[in-house]
Amino acid sequence: MKLASFISKTALLAVLVISGTTLIGFSDSVAATLSDDEAADLTFQREEEKLARDVYLTLYAQWGAVIFSNIAASEQKHTDTMLKMLIKYKLPDPALSEEGAFTNPSLQTKYDELVVYGRRSYMDGLYVGATIEEIDMIDIQHALDRTKRLDLRTAYQNLLEGSKNHLRAFVAALAAQGIVYEPQYISQELYDAILGS
Ligand code: ZN
Ligand code: ZN
Repeated sequence: MKLASFISKTALLAVLVISGTTLIGFSDSVAATLSDDEAADLTFQREEEKLARDVYLTLYAQWGAVIFSNIAASEQKHTDTMLKMLIKYKLPDPALSEEGAFTNPSLQTKYDELVVYGRRSYMDGLYVGATIEEIDMIDIQHALDRTKRLDLRTAYQNLLEGSKNHLRAFVAALAAQGIVYEPQYISQELYDAILGS
């Protein structure tokens, strides 16, 4: 990441020197290069990672199972990663400090529904976890498909690998309860590849 940003700054410096432009406003010109889709995806993903964290914190409080607190800690890192990118590109942070509160109304609705479902039983909580990870994977892949930027792609790939690990953990915990989880959003092929790896 450091090397990549060094290279891109060096490349931009070369362009500026050639065109005879002054270096004042350098960071603004970097910030201005995100497309509307890239900015929207980053903003959405920041809150979606917070949603995962907040659901797992709530389910940890409900069920006391460490799987929820461990994965919540990982989601904290994911939402922090998205914040770093928002700051880098000088975009406003949509995330509210209050747990379970969201700027994006569709994420608020999703959070409210998932928490009701996950509180019904420990097994429902695990099922909600696997569901969230599947949805995250779909949304992260969508964001990946809409950017060629190495820094954003690296950040999203990181989140994607995390989601695969989390899905494996929830599926294993369900299996320990005698429940065979079946994918709801991702393809059976991708699911088998994730579980097999
Ligand atoms: Zn995540
Ligand atoms: Zn996750």
